[in-house]
Amino acid sequence: MKNRVVSGYRPSGRLHLGHYHGNLKNMVELQSTHECFFFVADWHALTTGYKDTSQLGAYTTEMVLDWLAAGLDPNACTIYRQSDIGSIPELTLYFGMVITLGELERCPTYKEQLRELDARVVNTFGFLGYPVLQAADILIVDAELVPVGEDQLPHLELTREIARDFNSLYGRTFPEPKGLLSSAPKIPGTDGRKMSKSYENAIVLDDSPDVIRKKVRKYITDPARMRRDDKGHPEVCTIFQLYRVYFADTIDSVANECEGALVGCTECKDRLAERIAADLAPFRERRAQIAGDTALAGKVLAAGAEKVSPIASETLTRARKAMKIGTL
Ligand code: SF4
Repeated sequence: MKNRVVSGYRPSGRLHLGHYHGNLKNMVELQSTHECFFFVADWHALTTGYKDTSQLGAYTTEMVLDWLAAGLDPNACTIYRQSDIGSIPELTLYFGMVITLGELERCPTYKEQLRELDARVVNTFGFLGYPVLQAADILIVDAELVPVGEDQLPHLELTREIARDFNSLYGRTFPEPKGLLSSAPKIPGTDGRKMSKSYENAIVLDDSPDVIRKKVRKYITDPARMRRDDKGHPEVCTIFQLYRVYFADTIDSVANECEGALVGCTECKDRLAERIAADLAPFRERRAQIAGDTALAGKVLAAGAEKVSPIASETLTRARKAMKIGTL
């Protein structure tokens, strides 16, 4: 029996290099070693984007097609949409009864987003309760493992607390899922900040080689390197961070070239851009092949929902029984 893994991502437009190295490559590898459930988290997208939902459907389609082009295989993993699984909100309701407001308010991500986002966006019941919905996403399929970065561990800990509290109140019903820590590299955007669609600093996965080259040329390099023969300091250069990902085997010689002013920044950037474009070529090709297949994403999601719904329904029945809900 393979261990069951669940992971969900908000549909927010085309995927970029940050997504690819952050989780997508990992998902593609996991599908051959684990029983994987990957879902489009469209309800989660509402927690910060409830005002404008006009792109939700299009973003969902794009995300599924990007996943397929990246190598997710619906025969090797289950791909579904959160809002197609009607048992999740009921389980969320039950979990909402056992978690306290204090536990939710202490979540570091919540505190951070309160500082960063518009107060009117985040002062909602849905936003505060986001980890409860997440717990239901994970536990509805009895997942044992959840791929996470270090920063997401507190969220997973809330899921584990909810499972523990539920089990101690109503008897053992849920497993306590563990985190599958990934050592994903940080991918800087063209302005040096974290790569993100909202910062408009992203290299999108099917950008053409020419667009990739233009975007890579925008990166700020070592500010002390004003002229071609100035010696460089790769440790302060965002381009060098990307070199660590794309030229890991020869990173020392890249550093030597920079420190010895043996290469100019433009040449250095163009070499990197070429490597990124070559690495993404299979993705671009597959993505172009399926771009016109308007029914494909729908078919994949329908098959996924058909597989997940009975599992979710069985979990919900178990939870209701444990809580004596619906009995006389
Ligand atoms: S040569 Fe390359 S690594 Fe060195 S500062 Fe320029 S872009 Fe960065």
